[in-house]
Amino acid sequence: MRVVVVGAGVSGLNCARLLLHAGHGVTVVSSDPLHRTTSYLAAAVWFPTAAGPADAVARWGATTYGMLAAAAEAHVPGVVMRETLVLYREAPDRLLPLPGWAAAVGEVRAADRDELPPGYARGLRFVVPLVEMPEYLPYLHERVLAAGATQVVRRVTRLDDVLDLTPDVIVNAAGMGAGALVDDDTVYPVRGQIVRVTNPGLTLSVRDEQHPDGRAYVHPRSTDCILGGTLEEGNWNTEPDPAETTAILERCTDIVPRLADAQVIESVAGLRPGRPEVRVELDGDLLPVPVVHNYGHGGSGITIGWGCAQDVAALVAEVDQG
Ligand SMILES: Cc1cc2nc3c(=O)[nH]c(=O)nc-3n(C[C@H](O)[C@H](O)[C@H](O)COP(=O)(O)OP(=O)(O)OC[C@H]3O[C@@H](n4cnc5c(N)ncnc54)[C@H](O)[C@@H]3O)c2cc1C
Repeated sequence: MRVVVVGAGVSGLNCARLLLHAGHGVTVVSSDPLHRTTSYLAAAVWFPTAAGPADAVARWGATTYGMLAAAAEAHVPGVVMRETLVLYREAPDRLLPLPGWAAAVGEVRAADRDELPPGYARGLRFVVPLVEMPEYLPYLHERVLAAGATQVVRRVTRLDDVLDLTPDVIVNAAGMGAGALVDDDTVYPVRGQIVRVTNPGLTLSVRDEQHPDGRAYVHPRSTDCILGGTLEEGNWNTEPDPAETTAILERCTDIVPRLADAQVIESVAGLRPGRPEVRVELDGDLLPVPVVHNYGHGGSGITIGWGCAQDVAALVAEVDQG
């Protein structure tokens, strides 16, 4: 079939990749260059955040974990497995029950005392995929084009604007733009500011989701380190706030004292495409051709992306089989 995928962030490109693999003809339509997408600036560590429903996110997350782990093993550009430490200020009596995400991760162990920074009572150690998006997203895009997809650069106002491309099916994967294309007003921005600093030799990802001054995470990459961050529902501002930069640096240095030696490269802010629930759904009534929605991934687009794309490919196959 001829499938038009609207969106060339991680959601659209994952779908395009699997649809091409299934033998469909794919046209990708997007308005922004890759480096202007939310996907490009994401910290892009596997960790379910601000996305639901929980059971589907767990399933999509487990699939995506497996696919990214295989990509890291195959040395796909930008994909690595990263040792991680999640910190807790208060120690529960026991290690169990583990948080819901732990099932997908494989081995999770309690951090040793000497692995904890001052002020922390407990930590969990495990390994997750980390994706360096400035390397990976262009790679994914090139692979999609090399597999035969056509790229159209165009701002779409309504989803039916792409009917001139004569699709048999349309995939709506336009991130923050997806709701407006189909009159879904439940999509909202979840602003995230991060700070990119030089890497003072770190190799361990560290996070404290309950830091009293705001969430704190430190993700070392090959040539820099991503420090975060904020999670601000309803805030549309994509300008970084200098006061927030200072606050992020302070709380990240709290959890990783070696960051005191790091130099700031830049601060950036992006809008996670929030929605009460991720929408992966076949919609047969909207347009003269079926639409498969894939949007509203919140803070988890990289974490659940391949799992969602597999469901999209299955829904397109359903359409194909009539
Ligand atoms: C600071 C920050 C940190 C993050 N960290 C993580 C993390 O560690 N792990 C994780 O899993 N997730 C993380 N996320 C969330 C993740 O980035 C998003 O969930 C994901 O990028 C959403 O991808 P997407 O492809 O749906 O949207 P986008 O990347 O925004 O792509 C949308 C695409 O649609 C196109 N488009 C939009 N509107 C139109 C239109 N009208 N016409 C034509 N084209 C259109 C755009 O041009 C673009 O190509 C983070 C986000 C932020 C902001």
